[in-house]
Amino acid sequence: MASGGEPEQRARPERRVGGAVRIGRLFGIGVFIHWSFWLLIAFVIYLHAAQGATVWQIAEGVALIFSIFACVVLHECGHALAARRYGIGTRSITLMVIGGIASLERMPRKPSQELVVAVAGPMVNVVIAGVLFVGLLLVRGHVRQDEALLQAGGAYFDKLMWINVILVVFNMIPAMPMDGGRVLRALLAMRFGYERATRASARLAQTLAIGFAIVGIFEWQPLLIIIGVFVFFGAAAEAQMAIARSAIESLKVARAMMPDYLVIEPGARISDAIEALVTSRQSAFPVMEGNEVIAMLTREHIHKAAEAGEQDVPVMDYADRDFLRLSPDEPLVDAVDRLQQAEKSAALVEDDSGPVGILTREGVGELISLRASFKGRRG
Ligand SMILES: [Zn+2]
Repeated sequence: MASGGEPEQRARPERRVGGAVRIGRLFGIGVFIHWSFWLLIAFVIYLHAAQGATVWQIAEGVALIFSIFACVVLHECGHALAARRYGIGTRSITLMVIGGIASLERMPRKPSQELVVAVAGPMVNVVIAGVLFVGLLLVRGHVRQDEALLQAGGAYFDKLMWINVILVVFNMIPAMPMDGGRVLRALLAMRFGYERATRASARLAQTLAIGFAIVGIFEWQPLLIIIGVFVFFGAAAEAQMAIARSAIESLKVARAMMPDYLVIEPGARISDAIEALVTSRQSAFPVMEGNEVIAMLTREHIHKAAEAGEQDVPVMDYADRDFLRLSPDEPLVDAVDRLQQAEKSAALVEDDSGPVGILTREGVGELISLRASFKGRRG
């Protein structure tokens, strides 16, 4: 932990799924492999061995799995690069046994942008399949469609081409949060608005998810069961987010900010901040030098300092100098997006005259839950 002196310059931490190991970077985005991926490799080796495959054929099978996952990584890069066009960064790309996940800083809110970001992934696989198709035609004159595709070893590029076709078809199933579901939501949102579109898409996704799980159980396809569970809860989370968003849709930042708040001096100690936190129930404190807010100290900072046993250090050792400034007239949904994108839990609200309030994620969360239940009661 830095103590005093230079403000600590920290790169934004890379978000990653637990149990994942970083294998490299692509377009500046960290690529991680989840442990479940290695299970898949073990499974492929087992399947080959059970079929009496040679060591060479097993190696080919494993190489094919790595090639497929390279295609999945490129698919995720498609999403990430499309999102980047709209100023949305990607925190990480993680490969799991069920496929890849690109964690975007936030979801694009314009339906047309969501459409482009959702389609960009499968388009990458269309291109890969197309290149392999043309390549095979040029080299061999035809693409194999026979049972050779199902046997261990051989027909490597044919298999890879067909797998990319399957990836396109599979991802375009209209079950949110899969790509096809996002495409559907974006198309519906253009006509019916975001909330109605999300509710309808989520309902369809959950129906399909139950179907996946049932087929998965009766045909004993564990992967299908996992996908069913993933889609079911993913769709529920999307619906929840849409409801939250619509609850604050028309509001401005001023409506959700705390206009009265305590400030803290740069010379104060963490112990003073603990005192203020406990007695005020305020979760973020502007650090004020004269009339100027120079940093923001949040509950997380105070807890971090307390856990490090640093009660006597100045608050500036932990406070965030690179804090977010919002305008009271800014739409609240934009402000929430900005908080999320910057990974901040609080922001300073100021107008031309200076600071007028603080906005915390906690405060917004409370407003959302109150307004959403009020709306729910009215039907
Ligand atoms: Zn995708």
